[in-house]
Amino acid sequence: MTTDPEIHDLIIIGAGFAGLYTTIHAVREGFKVIGLDAASDVGGTWYWNRYPGARCDVESIDYSFSFDEDLQREWRWMERHATQPEILRYLNHVADRFDVRRHYRFNENLTAATWDENSHLWEVTTDSHTTHRGRWLVMATGSLSKPVLPDIPGLDTFAGETYLTAAWPKVAPDFRGKRVGLIGTGSSGIQTLPHLAQDAADVVVYQRTANYSVPAFNRLLDDDEWRAAQDNYAHRRQVSWDSLAGSPWTSHPKPYHDASPEEREAVFEEFWTQGGVLFAKAFARLTADPEINRAATAFFEKKLGQIVHDPQTRSDLTPDDHPLGAKRICTDSGYYECFNLDHVHLVNLKKDPLVSVVPEGIITQTGLRMHDCLVFATGFDALTGALTAPDVRGRGGLLLRDWWKEKVTTYLGVSIPGFPNLLTLNGPGSPSVLSNMALTSEQQGRFALDLIHFCADRGFTSAEARMDSANDWTAEGLAIAESTLFGAARSWYTGANVDGKPRGFLPYIGGFRPYIDKCHQAAQSGYSGFVLSNM
Ligand code: NAP
Repeated sequence: MTTDPEIHDLIIIGAGFAGLYTTIHAVREGFKVIGLDAASDVGGTWYWNRYPGARCDVESIDYSFSFDEDLQREWRWMERHATQPEILRYLNHVADRFDVRRHYRFNENLTAATWDENSHLWEVTTDSHTTHRGRWLVMATGSLSKPVLPDIPGLDTFAGETYLTAAWPKVAPDFRGKRVGLIGTGSSGIQTLPHLAQDAADVVVYQRTANYSVPAFNRLLDDDEWRAAQDNYAHRRQVSWDSLAGSPWTSHPKPYHDASPEEREAVFEEFWTQGGVLFAKAFARLTADPEINRAATAFFEKKLGQIVHDPQTRSDLTPDDHPLGAKRICTDSGYYECFNLDHVHLVNLKKDPLVSVVPEGIITQTGLRMHDCLVFATGFDALTGALTAPDVRGRGGLLLRDWWKEKVTTYLGVSIPGFPNLLTLNGPGSPSVLSNMALTSEQQGRFALDLIHFCADRGFTSAEARMDSANDWTAEGLAIAESTLFGAARSWYTGANVDGKPRGFLPYIGGFRPYIDKCHQAAQSGYSGFVLSNM
């Protein structure tokens, strides 16, 4: 075991959007910082999710840092929805531009973190058997960063190649001429299928639950569009900061119930062609009012009917167990069209359940399908997974994994009672995945640094959410979620995709701007929702 002799002001775990923002600003503001990441370089989610077809469902013009005007002007996005390689290049550019790598140690995966009540320091251990000590532990570990592998009998007996979209190899696998099985039809599976279908000799898609997917209508950004976006950037950013989801798009101004049938159809068409997740914004309350939701679903089904030729396949691809938008709408480029190809087959696991994996392929109730490769796009232990995987021990040795066994509570998504000076960025109870993560990362990093300054300036050596403020915040988030249709889906938002995970509603669904206002109020009250103390 090697012990880093320095005592750092901040230990920042993660080198994605939130970690980079916080590290850049903490260093600028005079703090001694060490960043750690399990990856070999910066990028966070965009480092790991290299699967073919990976791209962001938020427009590239919005999905980028806003804190530096020169950075914003010099980086030229090439497509409306940036691909994973383009976003990774951008984050590398950010790291170079602000010379941030020298503060990071890569290939160091956090295994344990322990709060020392005597010294008011965190002691952090990584898998390279190195220990670091710091006053604040900032977990910028990502909301969707702990992949879930399915528990399928015989999985380890498979004789071919196995891939996980969330940990894709740097050297791209060659699927040409191969028989591929794709398990999982969420955003990742839906994005990758067209690329698998392009190369492979045969693809079988194993679908447990049909999802709603809307085409991205992606396009190259030509110079005119880019120039216009640049000219309007300041306004676009301001609208995004004041919005509910961190992007400039708002719902149609007229309420659904005031619109004529023709107007409703025109609005759905307009928002359909905006692409992807924006369809759920067509009318205000689309994900809260069952009647509006049913109308949007009918529109979706009409569109699906225009794409998929075979009636049985179309029926199997039609979601039947959750309201549209209650799971994140997938954003695709040619997903449904793949099912018109002779070498792409759909297996509806609800009708033909998966039995086991064998060396030659996958057995379902109707028999064996032979595969050379299996691709798992089976999702994440969202929002809490990366926080509970290491042994994080707070006051009195309390293990975070145990503390959250029955119920996940935080104050503002940032602080947890019993875990002083542990700050979670984009954690459970923050808007995170329901907003534009580039802007939420800036907001979260700023909030964390302001709290750290406040404590440093006043001689407080620890800050921790009060139990009542965490309980109130968690109850408020749940009450807002219950006023929507989101709870009607078995989704990773609620923790339902992971066996044994407590049910709740993990992200804060009250909107980005209202959340920012709550954070401001918390700061203006002198952080009265926290217990502030000194040794
Ligand atoms: P996901 O939405 O959780 O989808 C996982 C898929 O795997 C589901 O279809 C699930 O079926 C299936 N699955 C899990 N275990 C299975 C099993 N044992 N047998 C058969 N099927 C199984 O995960 P994801 O696609 O990685 O997406 C997660 C989130 O990441 C997205 O919602 C999005 O927020 C983000 N993301 C965004 C983008 C983008 O920006 N475009 C791209 C990728 C991911 P069930 O539904 O039945 O559980």
